[in-house]
Amino acid sequence: MVVTGLENNNNSNANPSAVNSNNKGRTSWNIKTPTLAKNTINRIRIIVESLKISPNPAKPMIPLTIGDPTTFGNLKAADETMKAVLHAIESGKFNGYAHTQGHESARKAVAKYCAHQSSEEIKPENICLTSGCSSALEYSILALAEKGQNILIPRPGFCLYQTLTEGMGIEVRYYDLLPEKQWEADLKQMESLIDENTAALIINNPSNPCGSVFSREHLEDILAICEKYYVPIIADEVYEHFVFPGAKHYAVSALSKNVPVFSCGGLTKRFLVPGWRTGWVIIHDRENRLAEATRGLKNMCGRILGSNTLVQGALPAILENTPQSFFDSVIDILSENANLAWSMLKKIRGLNPVMPTGAMYMMVGINIEQFPEFADDTQFVQELVNQQSVFCLPGSCFELPNFVRLVLTIPKAMIEEACSRIAEFCEAHYKVDNSIIETNLLDEISY
Ligand SMILES: *Cc1c(COP(=O)(O)O)cnc(C)c1O
Repeated sequence: MVVTGLENNNNSNANPSAVNSNNKGRTSWNIKTPTLAKNTINRIRIIVESLKISPNPAKPMIPLTIGDPTTFGNLKAADETMKAVLHAIESGKFNGYAHTQGHESARKAVAKYCAHQSSEEIKPENICLTSGCSSALEYSILALAEKGQNILIPRPGFCLYQTLTEGMGIEVRYYDLLPEKQWEADLKQMESLIDENTAALIINNPSNPCGSVFSREHLEDILAICEKYYVPIIADEVYEHFVFPGAKHYAVSALSKNVPVFSCGGLTKRFLVPGWRTGWVIIHDRENRLAEATRGLKNMCGRILGSNTLVQGALPAILENTPQSFFDSVIDILSENANLAWSMLKKIRGLNPVMPTGAMYMMVGINIEQFPEFADDTQFVQELVNQQSVFCLPGSCFELPNFVRLVLTIPKAMIEEACSRIAEFCEAHYKVDNSIIETNLLDEISY
């Protein structure tokens, strides 16, 4: 046995491994984190933290980054929604655990609320209540895909899909959404990405960050691809009711004849209660094609012994009593804000806002070559904060450079102020492209 100075010291903090030869080879605190934890990365956080930001002290900060509609206090949950939780507390009945898929009464209420998603009756046993739509997505993905397989996700798209999968060793393959086609998917490319290891296709409709809503025809085209290659769909429909006047949302499960769908939704956005962490997966699988994956999904619910039961207790009343007028007023505010932002941004040289038809965001294209001081969208965003104290998320957060995303949930006056500051910023940095002038001159000469 090797005797070290430390042991001679008889120090109780000394490394005991050397004293005890029976340490099974554990000779130090050599603790590592596994691949999953190491590679679970939220891109938005990484990009935002890498920005060198010091807002202009002369102008109050306007954060157009925050995807939480409750932040500014202009949008509040309905009284009926909150009272339902009060009653659930007062009843004293919802302090215990529920079935890991959730209380039967709550699942029945969700089945009724989501009846439009299926031509058949939705059974409570085909519903899993989850901790927000995020865990609905997590369970759905992990019930279908494992290391070595791939899933298809939209680009630009919500970064959580990547966060949930990459650490697991599941490959993500991006299908492009095309701004010039109201953000429809590039179907040819989508099809080309599918191979024998494709476990699922994720669609997000209406879309974060695009604010787009797929047409019925487009969804049917996507379904045809999935049917041809036997690919199940995970539908992130957390914004399914966030649709502006004139647009219509179709649940993909309602249109599907043969493709099984895990549909993920929740209270978060529509009821303006993201902190309540209440979501669900609805299993649409008439032909029992996902029988094994459905068992897997239900197993996943057991990992955290089910979701918050207090809100489950309130769910029937929340879904029944929250009035249509409340939902309508939220949509009115969002679509008014979208119109306002779009009409102001449209006039700015170098910017191309894409008018949304749903959700609560707008994507704005930047002709980055006309802002030669900035190398890319992240630098554009950084300088916009530093000079004008207006903070948007760079498109890179959603895998689409040379765009920025703004949220439409902030008060109207702040949107107006933000857009005027963006105009001032762009005017200050816009450079007329000399080659364009020259060709224009040449054109004139030739006339
Ligand atoms: C907000 C959001 C979610 C997550 O919702 P939670 O219920 O808060 O977990 C999922 N998908 C998209 C596209 C979102 O924007």
